[in-house]
Amino acid sequence: MEHYKLIIIGAGLSGLSAGLRHARTGESTLIVEQHSIAGGLNSYYTRKGLLLETGLHAITNYATKAQRSAPLTRLLRQLKIKHHEFEIYPHKFSEIAFPDTKLKFSNDFELFISEIAKQFPKQIDNFKNLVTAINDFDAFTPSKYISARTILSTYITDPLLIEMLLCPIQFYGGYQENDLDWAQFTIMFEALFKEGFFRCSGGIKWLLERLLSGYANQGGEIKFKSKVAKILKNKNKVLGIRLENGTEITCDAIISTAGTPNTLEFLEENNQDEIIATSGRLAYVESLFIYDYNTKFSTEAAITFFNNSNHFNYASPKTLVDYNSGVICFPGNFKNYTPERGQLRITHLANYTNWKVLDKQSYKTQKDTLAKQSLKAIPIPPPSHKAFFQDSFTPTTVERYTGKKNGSIYGSPIKNRLGLTNYDNCFIAGTDQGYLGIVGAMLSGLTIVNQQLL
Ligand SMILES: Cc1cc2nc3c(=O)[nH]c(=O)nc-3n(C[C@H](O)[C@H](O)[C@H](O)COP(=O)(O)OP(=O)(O)OC[C@H]3O[C@@H](n4cnc5c(N)ncnc54)[C@H](O)[C@@H]3O)c2cc1C
Repeated sequence: MEHYKLIIIGAGLSGLSAGLRHARTGESTLIVEQHSIAGGLNSYYTRKGLLLETGLHAITNYATKAQRSAPLTRLLRQLKIKHHEFEIYPHKFSEIAFPDTKLKFSNDFELFISEIAKQFPKQIDNFKNLVTAINDFDAFTPSKYISARTILSTYITDPLLIEMLLCPIQFYGGYQENDLDWAQFTIMFEALFKEGFFRCSGGIKWLLERLLSGYANQGGEIKFKSKVAKILKNKNKVLGIRLENGTEITCDAIISTAGTPNTLEFLEENNQDEIIATSGRLAYVESLFIYDYNTKFSTEAAITFFNNSNHFNYASPKTLVDYNSGVICFPGNFKNYTPERGQLRITHLANYTNWKVLDKQSYKTQKDTLAKQSLKAIPIPPPSHKAFFQDSFTPTTVERYTGKKNGSIYGSPIKNRLGLTNYDNCFIAGTDQGYLGIVGAMLSGLTIVNQQLL
């Protein structure tokens, strides 16, 4: 029987970075992935000769090489990826667009401060005090849940500004309806507004290939099309995994990046209440449009977080899709970044159950409607030409390709910061540890290896 020091379940960004870090120690490492390629939530595919990304809008936590203690720089250093290998394209600016008010922000935080001073002159001192509170808070020491809304309202007295600050943060990491943990808010505020957005040349495919080749060069092994059905255990220790095809592989430790409820199922911890409580609730739809080279777009914003009323309702909609708010991404609006073709991505909140119950024909019809409705819903004029290719994903697409319960991108509403389980040598990493996004997922994989295995 094969035996490894460490088995990692999942070749998403957290699994790959955990694998790369562990393989560097020289100990045997195996990643098992159910899908035929790596990336999980953030991967790629080809259609009609076009290389398409499953999700990437922007990578957060922008930092230059000189910013040595920034999360991105520390991450790259630990993964032994040189900063210059990344050809980095920062966004020119992005914006939060509510009906009568817009706030621009870029990777220069001063722009955001000046926009708030312009749009909310009476709130600027309050906002600066909020920023001081965020700077002073240690989000990485596990603490009790504190409502971000409650803290925000102790600093900011204009409800519209509170809604506008929450909108991008919830869209890019909200695993809970209409509020989030203050610790999570501070991490996201730093990642989005203070550090900011970028894309890299080669997109997600380049990053995944770089992680995979680094991992292979350190002797790490990976098995694709290998779905874990069960974690083998004895008393308070895990012993290995059983794949769906019956193959058993033993190990000294396991890191699961498949999510808390899935991991509980692998462990046959049949506590249905806990499985339901840790299953994500919030799901999304996204449509991708590809345009000819000569298409003109009506905004220079790389990403627009929009909401068509002054109250932002970040909740699972009763209908299939909530078109009242969303995220618009133009990858071509990153500085000096020229994707092969014009691209537009539009994202909205969606209801998993309503999509799940559709029969095949209705599902197809609703997917076609989705793309059309999305183009009508966005608060900017549509592109000058018609898209020559379009595709959409729904919560059931996410569920099918990544195993995420309820198609929920941001996973469990109960995060497991330390990544510990009831078994001494079995750990949770990735989305359900509470580190979100591409950089967050990679930091999570690294942290679990550093803190629990080395
Ligand atoms: C549409 C979309 C757009 C996004 N845009 C951005 C963005 O612009 N910027 C950003 O920073 N973040 C973005 N994200 C979020 C980001 O992609 C995720 O936070 C991150 O990729 C999560 O990585 P992970 O490794 O924790 O989880 P996952 O990517 O879910 O990886 C888990 C892996 O485990 C595998 N797995 C599950 N069950 C099993 C099993 N039984 N056996 C074997 N393998 C299994 C899955 O197939 C998957 O590969 C986006 C996500 C989506 C879906």
